[in-house]
Amino acid sequence: MRRKLLMGNWKMNKTIAEAKQFAIESHSIAELAEEHNIDLGVAPTYLSLEIVKKHAAKSMKVASQNVHFATNGAFTGEISIPMLKEIGVEWSLVGHSERRTYDGETDQKCNDKVLTLLDNGMTPIFCCGESLEIFQNGQTKSFVEHQIREGLKNIPLSEVGRLVVAYEPIWSIGTGHSASKEIAEEMCFFIREVLRSLYGTKADEIRILYGGSVKPENIKEYLSCPNVDGALVGGASLKIDSYRALLENIL
Ligand code: PEP
Repeated sequence: MRRKLLMGNWKMNKTIAEAKQFAIESHSIAELAEEHNIDLGVAPTYLSLEIVKKHAAKSMKVASQNVHFATNGAFTGEISIPMLKEIGVEWSLVGHSERRTYDGETDQKCNDKVLTLLDNGMTPIFCCGESLEIFQNGQTKSFVEHQIREGLKNIPLSEVGRLVVAYEPIWSIGTGHSASKEIAEEMCFFIREVLRSLYGTKADEIRILYGGSVKPENIKEYLSCPNVDGALVGGASLKIDSYRALLENIL
């Protein structure tokens, strides 16, 4: 049985003080999630990772929004896995569409990151999803399949179960145009089939999330789909009341 996961992506929002305040206020939400066997997490900016880790409940998953695959070296502006591990951060997003679009994150780079994170005992949340143009041309499945086959290749079978995949159609991120629950379910099911072709029954352990304008008002319809194991939420994860409502509305 896959545990549901609700992960907030704060993007480039919140000062350290604001992140700390959220972490302090999130304790009762984290307890509620634990009672219902739901995993909760947030992905703050690099600067706020340590303070959130320190002040949030132990059960709260704290994820980096990005990481470099090298341990150290001449990579100005980057952060490595040992640096994250030193402050207790064990999760990282990989290949968010904003990084693919603005920062040249290629499928190969994503694969390097996924493999290195897993090798270090960490949990990657691998993001995939198509642009509006690809969606309108009816090429969504072939595009996403390519992202999965390239970004998630060569994972040792013993590590597959730790992986999390987030399907996020780019046209739904931050736009208010969320995908229908039918599209979310069809794509999460399709992604699992692709993963099964790579990793056999081990693929059934992978959690597959939907992301794209998920709000307290619509989260329940996604989480009621059999192949949607949770949500990656941007805007609606920023305010503590909205974050609490996301959880309460799926209980
Ligand atoms: C995201 O940042 O991954 C995201 C899905 O954002 P939003 O929920 O704001 O669409």
